[in-house]
Amino acid sequence: MGTKIVLKSGKEQSIRRYHPWVFSGAIKKIYGEPLEGDIVTVFDNNNEFLAVGHYQPGSIAVRILSFEDIEPDSEFFRERINSAIDFRRSMGLIDNDSVNVFRLVHGEGDNLPGLIVDFYNGVIVMQSHSVGMYKIRKEIARILSELLGERIIAVYDKSESTIPFKAEIAAKNEFLSGESEPVVVTENGFKFRIDWTTGQKTGFFIDQRENRKMLSDYTKGKSVLNMFGYTGGFSVYAMKDAGLVHSVDSSASATALADENVRLNFGDDSRHTSFQVDAFEFLNDIKDKYDLIILDPPAFAKHNNVLTNALQGYKRLNMKAIEQIRPGGIIFTFSCSQVVTRENFRKSVFAAAANTGRNVRILHQMSQPPDHPVNIYHPESEYLKGLVLYVE
Ligand code: SAH
Repeated sequence: MGTKIVLKSGKEQSIRRYHPWVFSGAIKKIYGEPLEGDIVTVFDNNNEFLAVGHYQPGSIAVRILSFEDIEPDSEFFRERINSAIDFRRSMGLIDNDSVNVFRLVHGEGDNLPGLIVDFYNGVIVMQSHSVGMYKIRKEIARILSELLGERIIAVYDKSESTIPFKAEIAAKNEFLSGESEPVVVTENGFKFRIDWTTGQKTGFFIDQRENRKMLSDYTKGKSVLNMFGYTGGFSVYAMKDAGLVHSVDSSASATALADENVRLNFGDDSRHTSFQVDAFEFLNDIKDKYDLIILDPPAFAKHNNVLTNALQGYKRLNMKAIEQIRPGGIIFTFSCSQVVTRENFRKSVFAAAANTGRNVRILHQMSQPPDHPVNIYHPESEYLKGLVLYVE
C-alpha cells in the first residue's frame, strides 16, 4: 500500500471534506522515505485511513487519487479516464464536426490531480503536473488509445516544463505513440493551426472557447482591439463581421500565429493588423479608437504572496481600457490567475471603473467551459473569471 503518512491533529478536516491536496505543513510524520511520485496512504492522527495519493516533496505533498482504501492500479486509471471521456461525450464534444479541440482530462476537476489531457483533432497532448502522473504517462497514453481507438493519431507528452522543479527526472517532450505534424483544428467552425511543440500550455487556450463564442455576438461592424492576443483566438471570431480587428501581443511568435490563423479563415484581409508591442505601452494611446476591447492577460499572480501586485495589475489594465474606450463600448476582461478569486477580480475592475468615473454595467460573468470542470471540493480549480462590461 506504499508509504504511510500521518497528519497532525485537526489537519484531516479538509481531507474529510474531499479537498484533494495534502500540504506539507499538515504532515506529522512520514514513515519510510517515499520517492517523488510514489503512491502513499494518508491517515489522521488517530490512525484512521483518509486517502491514497501521489507523493511529491514540496508544498503540495500529496495529490489525492482516492478517498477509498484502494490500490490505484491500471484499472483504476482506466475507469477515471473513461469517466472523463463519457462526461465529454454527454456534452457532445466527442465526434463533433464543428468542435474538435477540447480538454479531455482537467486534473482535479476530473479527479485526476496532476494530469492534463487535451485533444487536438486526433492528436492528444498530455501534461503532467506531478511526478506521479509523469511516471505512468505511458500507461495513460495506452489507456487513452484503447478507449478512443481510431480517433487518435498520436499522443504527445509535454511535461518538460510542468513537472515539479525538484523532480530528479530528465523529462523531455516526446511522442509516446504515433507522430504528427502540427494540425488544424476546428472550433465552432473557425480554424486554428496548433503547434504543441512551440505553443504555450499545450498549444491553445481551449478554455476560452465559450467566451470567444459569446464575443461573436458583439462584434458586428465594430473596431475591435484584442489585447494579449496569442493565437488570435478572439481576433478570428471577431473577424466574422467586425469592421477592424487589431491583435496585440509582446511576443513575435504570437503575432505571427494570430496573422496565420486569421489568414486560414479569411485569407488576406486588410481589416486585421497585428502589433508586437507591450500591452501597457499600447494602451497609453487608444483614446476613442475602439468600440470593443478584449483584455486576456497571462496570470499576473502565480502565488498568494504576489496577490496585491496582481490585483493592482488588473486595476491598472482595466482602467486604461475603461478610460479610453468609445462611449457605448464593450470590454471583455479576464483573469486566469488561480489565486485571484472571482470577488477579488471584480473588486479590481470596480476600482478601475471608479477611478475613471464612467458609468459601467456588467453584462455577463464568464467562466471556464464544462470540459474544464470545477471540482466543488477544490475551489482552486475555478481559475478563469471574466466580465463583459458596457461602458457608457
Ligand atoms: N487571449 C489568448 C491567450 C492569452 S495568453 C487566447 O485566447 O488564446 C497571454 C498572452 O499575453 C501571451 O501570448 C503573451 O505573449 C502575452 N503577453 C504577456 N505579457 C505581455 C505584455 N506585457 N504585453 C503584451 N502581451 C503580453
